[in-house]
Amino acid sequence: MTADLISGTEIRKTILEELKKEVADMKAQHGTVPGLVTILVGENPASQSYVRLKIKTAEELGFKEIQDNQADTISEADLLTLIDKYNNDPEIHGILVQLPLPDHIDDKKVLNAIDPDKDVDGFHPVNVGRLMIGGSEVKFLPCTPAGIQEMIIRSGTETSGAEVVVVGRSNIVGKPIAVMMAQKGEGANATTTIVHTRTKDLEGHCKRADILIVAAGVPGLVKPEWIKPGATVIDVGVNRVGTSEKTGKAILKGDVDFDKAKEIAGKITPVPGGVGPMTIAMLMKNTVQSAKFAIEAK
Ligand code: NAD
Repeated sequence: MTADLISGTEIRKTILEELKKEVADMKAQHGTVPGLVTILVGENPASQSYVRLKIKTAEELGFKEIQDNQADTISEADLLTLIDKYNNDPEIHGILVQLPLPDHIDDKKVLNAIDPDKDVDGFHPVNVGRLMIGGSEVKFLPCTPAGIQEMIIRSGTETSGAEVVVVGRSNIVGKPIAVMMAQKGEGANATTTIVHTRTKDLEGHCKRADILIVAAGVPGLVKPEWIKPGATVIDVGVNRVGTSEKTGKAILKGDVDFDKAKEIAGKITPVPGGVGPMTIAMLMKNTVQSAKFAIEAK
């Protein structure tokens, strides 16, 4: 058996097309477009490239996009004042502060200063609390877990009553996706188990998963024989395992042995081209959602 491929690249394309239309409709009906500000402190090349990608996507969708670059000498107080300025700007619906920040600035203090109603990354404690409560309380889901759930829904995977096993308990992936899958609602209503480094029988838990979500950051951690035949496997792991001699680019592998796992699973995400491309799409979706909330609140 060869599993169906769940392509994040393809799903992202569809989501971005849907969002582009929503933005055009919003502009036509309400004379407003989603506004996103990306705050980049310093000149970290990896951060610059993430920010560039976010800006490019936002511009393609027709957002108002502000790139606010600051020198790495900016004080914490001045950065907090800058965030406050955007918190109070009615044309801005999403505020992104690219991490890491310089050592003299407290990340937590800065992220917590973002208005939770403009926290399109979904990491503010208020949004984490809203996610726990679920239902209509939820404003912004964190982007990677939201992308995972979207892939599960759009691939037609049945979640109601399904056994979902999540490998990893981080705040950005493992914990939120486990909570989301257990909530009432579409693409959820599952029975979820979180497994981690202290779990006694990792293999046993993985083997009974109808949906296996792996976010450990350990290449090849999940062995093909741990996969229940026909299961849906979502591999979140992105691990650099070397450099291609041909292209000079990093060779990326997931946490699952893809080539063998695809012979056992029913559906599977590749790495690269799986969960990775979904994260920015969900960030854009959250920003459109935020603009809609602002219109409704007028
Ligand atoms: P993390 O290091 O914060 O958490 C990893 C979790 O996996 C921990 O909770 C740990 O307990 C668990 N774990 C590690 N080794 C294990 C083992 N041997 N057995 C059982 N559990 C184990 O990582 P994270 O931020 O959640 O990211 C996980 C992976 O997902 C990384 O490879 C990361 O690059 C990738 N990731 C991808 C995206 C994306 O594609 N957009 C986004 C976020 C993270």
